[in-house]
Amino acid sequence: MHCPFCGADDTKVIDSRLASEGASVRRRRECQACAERFTTFETAELVMPRIIKSDDRREPFDEEKLSSGIWRALEKRPVQTEDVEAAVNRILKRIRSLGEREIAANNVGGWVMDELRDLDQVAYVRFASVYRSFQDVSAFQEEIDKLKNIPSPELKKRQQSLLPDDES
Ligand SMILES: [Zn+2]
Repeated sequence: MHCPFCGADDTKVIDSRLASEGASVRRRRECQACAERFTTFETAELVMPRIIKSDDRREPFDEEKLSSGIWRALEKRPVQTEDVEAAVNRILKRIRSLGEREIAANNVGGWVMDELRDLDQVAYVRFASVYRSFQDVSAFQEEIDKLKNIPSPELKKRQQSLLPDDES
């Protein structure tokens, strides 16, 4: 690995440890020429399936596109970054564990909706309305009705804080 500071060929690993719960290796390196230190991360590159669009076109899976769609739905919503990242990771894991070479965009969208439903209901409706491109008001109403049966994350929190063990 070349030194990013001086471009020398020879850099030495001075420390190596697991990161992201074992999903990557973090290495501390030192340049033998200029003595600058820097960090590298090594992760396994797993091949993601290609995405089948609704018009049957295939395109490479794009993680960036997945997470930017989720972030767009969550714009200005009170949701923690790490909760969103965890949701994205669960979706990625789901896609990988299928082991398919191709996967319908529709399935991925459904999983995004599953995650958003738990994260934030406003974001869920935003995403659903774009993603499902509701043809009419009744399709939209259907999604809203589904939500009514699930307590919102805020309500769940409030209910939890009413549990007797919280009294102290
Ligand atoms: Zn150097």
